Amino acid sequence: MPTSFSAKVARRSIALLSSAALILCGSSAGANPNDSVDVIIHGGTIHDGGEGAPFVGDVAIREDRIVAIGPDIPRKAKRIIDAKGMIVTPGLIDPHTHADAFLRSSVRGERLNAPWLYQGVSTVMIGVDGAGTPDVAADAERLVRSGIGTNVVPFVGFGPVRQRVLGQDARAPTDAELGAMKALVAKGMCEGATGFSTGLFYAPQSFATKAEVVAVAREAAVRGGLYDTHQRDESSYSIGLLGSVEEAIAIGRQANMPVHFAHLKALGVDVHGQAAAVISAIEKARAAGIEVTADQYPWLASGSNLDAALLPRWALDGGGAALLKRLDDPATLARIRDEMQENLRRRGGAEALLLIGQGYPWVGKTLEEVAAEWKLDSRDAALRIIRQNIAVKQRGDNGGGTAVASFNMAQADVDLFMQQPWMVTSSDGSAGHPRMFASFPEKYVRYVRERRVISLTTFIRQSTGRTADIYKLDRRGYLRPGHYADVLVFDPNTYAPQADYIRPRELSVGVRQLFVNGQLAIDGGRATGVAAGRPLLRPLPANCAQKMQ
Ligand SMILES: [Zn+2]
Repeated sequence: MPTSFSAKVARRSIALLSSAALILCGSSAGANPNDSVDVIIHGGTIHDGGEGAPFVGDVAIREDRIVAIGPDIPRKAKRIIDAKGMIVTPGLIDPHTHADAFLRSSVRGERLNAPWLYQGVSTVMIGVDGAGTPDVAADAERLVRSGIGTNVVPFVGFGPVRQRVLGQDARAPTDAELGAMKALVAKGMCEGATGFSTGLFYAPQSFATKAEVVAVAREAAVRGGLYDTHQRDESSYSIGLLGSVEEAIAIGRQANMPVHFAHLKALGVDVHGQAAAVISAIEKARAAGIEVTADQYPWLASGSNLDAALLPRWALDGGGAALLKRLDDPATLARIRDEMQENLRRRGGAEALLLIGQGYPWVGKTLEEVAAEWKLDSRDAALRIIRQNIAVKQRGDNGGGTAVASFNMAQADVDLFMQQPWMVTSSDGSAGHPRMFASFPEKYVRYVRERRVISLTTFIRQSTGRTADIYKLDRRGYLRPGHYADVLVFDPNTYAPQADYIRPRELSVGVRQLFVNGQLAIDGGRATGVAAGRPLLRPLPANCAQKMQ
């Protein structure tokens, strides 16, 4: 049990809290104007992450903190950045990413998290969709030692927790097994996780009942964590989109914790137009006192694994080897093919599934095109690819399987969700889909500048302060004296995505400077190579000390 590290983190948090209190008290009037600071960002249009109107002014940074902000700061600085005509905001916060893979890479360049830095993102959440390890402290320690480019906020996830105790099995836990799962979640929370994430859409998490999830989630709730979920059904797969929204809200109500919907959407033709009904369910819960919020990425295609998109969940019981056995049995194969037909229809047909990922000849083609090339039914083409993915996995090859960009969202639903006062921006960034490299500038260009679905202030609020509020991030998300100096300077005329579905790995442009903890991660539009990110662990809840002996 790596108590030493988490204890150190806890002590540091407490020390930082008291010094911040001093800075906050003495920040505005008491500071000596002749005190030199490290950097002044001068003359930019400042959006501080809050609800207030933007203003032209300066931001002063010393070490890892913002020390002053105002219309004109008469101070000496080692460096003055001319930001006239630029927009100055808090570093953006991305609450739903799959950046874990890059942050843990043995390649230093990957750990810098450039796809996010070039969008202006200084903090990413990891371990979402139920994927977060319960070994939060050990993981954070590794990240600190190897050096990372952005801050990371970890979740403890239901996936590894259930897998450690129950494997891939589609069954209920015994009392002892439930106790073991609860202990793992408690451990993750007591090591600094910000909440409990689930991906009930995915096997084996999909095998859990609501009651099981509530029992396990409560361990996070009593330690101040929120419930962050890729819900069981965003479409019409099992309990339906609306049924699934109700389930997640019920989990929050019964476990007594805030609920956050990851990448909220109405996926597939069966549920197009249901955004309004989802919104009213969420509003009703909020009116009843449950904190319910959501994030969203600005693309009409979702990304998923081919097996998760097309295969019935019972076919995945027991994992890849068990699936292969089922595919070899003609009667079972027939049942699987029948259900695949329905899943294809739901997602708009084989022409709406673009195969993405890396290194396979079919990448960049639709499933329909590949099936035609192979002279196969589209289901059989998909199964051929899924078989190959399993083989790759079984070889222990980490190249990753074939994913799909599934064009399954209606523009009107995306727009309506985006306009809600509890919505924030996310990327859901993972390899193969342009959302990893371009979600924030994509939203700015398409939804703020071109289509005017939301205002610039709302876009920034949805990408900074509101997100920090939802996750209770300590002194992040706002440009305020005493806050950590995560600061973005971008050019409103050139900030833009370069990645698209065909070329998903192009870095975005238009970020002039990005400070992460007071250090320049991007300067003059280019990454500096500095690894200034930190794991942002929550101060330990009071009810951890005796539990974690
Ligand atoms: Zn997800």
